[in-house]
Amino acid sequence: MSDQFDVVVIGGGPAGYVAAIRCAQLGLNTACIDQWINPRGKPVLGGTCLNVGCIPSKALLESSERFVQTRHELSDHGVRVAGVELDLDAMLARKDRIVQELTKGIEQLFKANKVSWVQGRGQLQGGKEIKVTENGREKPRRLSAGHVILAPGSSPLELDHVSLQGDIVVDSTGALDFHAVPERLGIIGAGVIGLELGSVWRRLGTETVTVLEAQDTFLPITDEQVAAEALRIFKGQGLDVQLNSRVTDCKVEGQTVEIQYQNDGGEQRATFDKLIVAVGRRPNTDALAADEATLLLDEWGLVHVDEQCRTNLPGVYAIGDAVRGPMLAHKGAEEGVMVAELIAGHSAAVNYGAVPSVIYTMPEVAWVGETEQALRAAGDAYRSGVFPFSASGRARAIGETGGFIKVLADARTDRILGVHMIGHHCGELISEAVIAMELGASAEDIALTMFAHPTLSESFHEAALAVHQRPLHIVSHRKR
Ligand code: FAD
Ligand code: AMP
Repeated sequence: MSDQFDVVVIGGGPAGYVAAIRCAQLGLNTACIDQWINPRGKPVLGGTCLNVGCIPSKALLESSERFVQTRHELSDHGVRVAGVELDLDAMLARKDRIVQELTKGIEQLFKANKVSWVQGRGQLQGGKEIKVTENGREKPRRLSAGHVILAPGSSPLELDHVSLQGDIVVDSTGALDFHAVPERLGIIGAGVIGLELGSVWRRLGTETVTVLEAQDTFLPITDEQVAAEALRIFKGQGLDVQLNSRVTDCKVEGQTVEIQYQNDGGEQRATFDKLIVAVGRRPNTDALAADEATLLLDEWGLVHVDEQCRTNLPGVYAIGDAVRGPMLAHKGAEEGVMVAELIAGHSAAVNYGAVPSVIYTMPEVAWVGETEQALRAAGDAYRSGVFPFSASGRARAIGETGGFIKVLADARTDRILGVHMIGHHCGELISEAVIAMELGASAEDIALTMFAHPTLSESFHEAALAVHQRPLHIVSHRKR
């Protein structure tokens, strides 16, 4: 393999591998360096998302939801089942198989697109040169590139006073691999990852799931009305979310872990069989660039970039979790495509105002654009339309009537500013709102669009109608 490339990408997660594929599609001679080694000691592509993030967590969320439904909810549909049992090993093996198939798929895409996969650790040197320490080799190799894309991703944040210990105090990676259902589970951090993992184990039979959150607001990134509904539903499912609770100490004693935390009532103690630390993620930028490269990082260790992911170094871009913005796979992947297009001399941009977010709990929480509290704080004039799933025929037929869709539109132009949802399949439904916002739709555009009946997406139609106080399937108190 020659060591001279048009583009070298450091990192083979969804940001880096997508960037590499798009560069290759555009005719650029591309290499992608990745250091990931799976538990069987094999180098694999896909980064956090495929190996220990989006994919394995969704596999377990799906399996655990089927288990809980089969066990408790089918009788409501007139389906009698008996002797439902959990085979956790089979469930974990299914998850691992899906991960293997998908990571292998990226390998095949690299082959088909002629992307060179360099297995090892890359470090940017001065002048767009990259030093690679290949797996199992001591002598580093040097690659040179016309352009460099940094996509090193992120790792779980650790707390100073809560060190990870075996399979008892774990991060999100360990929490995807418990080989027995813990009776008492503690989770530090009521963010997206903590809530998804807590849901998995609660559904599989964990008796108490205690989620300790340092902030006094639940899910402050979501619309406050959605967050309030989510908190009510999650509590009903048995997630004991305790806000304003800061963990101060943690000790493992045999097979249990005892923690101390501070809340409104003072010093508290709790004992768990497993403790998951899910307090956020930090960028993998520690040794990403040699000092001589003079790559600029910000105060959080994120690579400093402009709107088009250019770093302070000419010809060097950075994308994905290692740069500003939400740590989401699709956001990184779109940045990867943008940067590839820019390198190929095309014009390209990412619309950061239309990045969807989804929490894959049951019901799912999904949103795009501005929240109502942000619009209020900014003093922007807006109108809001809400439609509850309890009034949707399809939601009733499915038996999932919790939640609602809210559309926020500019009071003057009617342009959609944000859409917030909680309910069944909202992770899929949100794409309709993303397309609407991407195309600059008004609430009236959606109101004038025909939706198939009976579908959950009719609720998006109705919420858009409600912006103008004319929903058809709920009573609007203000008539026109
Ligand atoms: P990563 O996926 O972290 O990939 C970076 C890669 O670069 C890794 O393979 C790493 O080993 C490699 N690397 C780093 N430094 C070097 C170096 N110097 N040399 C060589 N290789 C290097 N996001 C969603 O959008 N949807 C979800 O449902 C979702 N669920 C999640 C669930 C969990 C449990 C977790 C932990 C995360 C989840 N995320 C989800 C977040 C998502 O995984 C990340 O946003 C995404 O993986 C970021 O992509 P990336 O390419 O920037 O980085
Ligand atoms: P996310 O950023 O979505 O992964 O969520 C992580 C959550 O962990 C945030 O809501 C943080 O407020 C929370 N968190 C961070 N540190 C602590 C801590 N010491 N104790 C409890 N919660 C914490």
